[in-house]
Amino acid sequence: MSYWQELEHKYYMSTVERLPITLVRGQGARVWDEDGREYLDFVGGWAVNSLGHCHPVVVEAVVEQVHTLIQASNQFYTVPQVRLAELLVQNSCLDKVFFCNSGAEANEGAVKLARRYGQLNLSGAHEIITTMGSFHGRTLNMVAATGQPKFQQPYIPLPGGFINVEYNSIEAIKAATTSLTCAVMLEPVQGEGGVNLPDNNYLTAVREWCDRKGILLILDEIQTGVGRTGILFAYQQLGIEPDVMTLAKGLASGIPIGAILAKDRASVFNPGEHGSTFGGNPLACAAGYATLKFILDNDVAGNASRIGRYLIDGLKGFKQKFQFITDVRGYGLLVALEFSSDISQSLVMDCLDRGLLVNQLKPNALRFMPPLIIGNEEVDEALSILDKALSIIVS
Ligand SMILES: *Cc1c(COP(=O)(O)O)cnc(C)c1O
Repeated sequence: MSYWQELEHKYYMSTVERLPITLVRGQGARVWDEDGREYLDFVGGWAVNSLGHCHPVVVEAVVEQVHTLIQASNQFYTVPQVRLAELLVQNSCLDKVFFCNSGAEANEGAVKLARRYGQLNLSGAHEIITTMGSFHGRTLNMVAATGQPKFQQPYIPLPGGFINVEYNSIEAIKAATTSLTCAVMLEPVQGEGGVNLPDNNYLTAVREWCDRKGILLILDEIQTGVGRTGILFAYQQLGIEPDVMTLAKGLASGIPIGAILAKDRASVFNPGEHGSTFGGNPLACAAGYATLKFILDNDVAGNASRIGRYLIDGLKGFKQKFQFITDVRGYGLLVALEFSSDISQSLVMDCLDRGLLVNQLKPNALRFMPPLIIGNEEVDEALSILDKALSIIVS
């Protein structure tokens, strides 16, 4: 164990099983550890480094903003915040934006918005229906919203107001809807919970149901948004529009940011009803603006779509050779590779040794979420490393 790793064990709360390398530098789709070893990064800071590590347009925007204005009280108008809000509204179906600092905080705000909507329009309805296998963040409310026992059990009793129902079942949502329901909250594709794709017509059925009941549809696009699924927002390829959408991860390519977007009719906060000290500060918004502008101007989402298909085709090509591969699935550059047995931990370690970072999605599945700017060469390189790692499993 290195010096830094020993210090970490001494001083840092142990909330995660770390992999045994200390990253000190990143550029594009590559990172380097403290010994100078290079890795191809198909984790991308948890689907965060949309433009890769230290992309020049992000670095430039941050450096310029750092020298200009880093933080201001939200009592004052600031320019980067307005520019990023305008760009988001111009390129989505939503009308209003609020910025915060993380995904969980964005979802918390979306839930507050839905409750306020319920107070004003639905006789005080305040319950939110979410799905099993979802992931909405680590605050207590979002743990209650997240339909996965492993995140919930350590913190029982959980706050009320969330009903977790079976995923991909419109009937389950219908059965859980009562006069107390103010919203349904879903990820268009469940990311953390397994890269679980929505069945055909599931989301359109949910949309119709929400319309019929007059309740809000909140889409958590924290992982799927900003180009990740091969289009700017995943809802655009699913034939529906949300009333409220949350973003975070890839929006500023690594600088912490979260966002709540809402249609005008759902945008019901009044002054004083919500806030955030750092939320929407000039630094994060300048990074967000630079990232989103680059993604739009260079059709980075289109690249994610093309390269994602190339990656999925490559992984599907492995199925002949490695019979223990049971599934390859994903949209754009959010891709999962599933196995018939629990081999992902050893695959992650073997790939690491060979210079490729991949995520253990489940004991029997890997997830790939590389920067959206990669090309076929990076995919070829990753596939070749995976091929070797998978071959060892066989023999
Ligand atoms: C990562 C994630 C979150 C939580 O975001 P944080 O920034 O870690 O709070 C919420 N929802 C989804 C879909 C996510 O992938």
